Amino acid sequence: MKIGLLALQGDYREHLQVLQTLGVETAEVRLSKDLEGIAGLIIPGGESTTIGKLAARYHLIEPLRVFARAKPVWGTCAGMILLAKEIGGEQPILGIMDIVVERNAFGRQVDSFQIDLEVPILPDGDSKTFPAVFIRAPRLVGVKGDAALIAQLPDGTGVAAQEGKWLATSFHPELTKDNRFHRYFLSLVEQRP
Ligand code: GLN
Repeated sequence: MKIGLLALQGDYREHLQVLQTLGVETAEVRLSKDLEGIAGLIIPGGESTTIGKLAARYHLIEPLRVFARAKPVWGTCAGMILLAKEIGGEQPILGIMDIVVERNAFGRQVDSFQIDLEVPILPDGDSKTFPAVFIRAPRLVGVKGDAALIAQLPDGTGVAAQEGKWLATSFHPELTKDNRFHRYFLSLVEQRP
């Protein structure tokens, strides 16, 4: 089982390190041919406008949509913005998940923060919180159709969603030592034929 990282911009190396620690084979995706033989794809955090523009320039938007129709995809932070169908602005996105996202939703004073979140779907999620790192993060303002909220801040703000084989998190699990989100994504990949 090989997991791809969209490696156009952003912190894809941190994801690669976590996956390698878990003994998973990885591949950096920059061209559509790099998607061949990949069982799941992670879109990292970074700058969603840059990642989207580079994906458009390298003719990756349509191949990524085709890939996502068949296989699990997880977007973290900027990656969540790329996966969302609605982002309230004009920039190239994949528009895959039935979620409504607001970019840079946490204001200047709190551009970055860490908080322990309850995420019941994770392994040990009922008894152990997840350390979530937010960096100029988006928030979920709407979850529609088959998409479901899987994590919220204490004030109810949506910060993670799942829609079948697709996962989106406002925060950066690759920047913590807790690899349960990566293991959860791998379990979604393993469920697929
Ligand atoms: N603010 C960035 C954006 O809008 C996302 C930040 C991140 O990925 N850490 O794309």
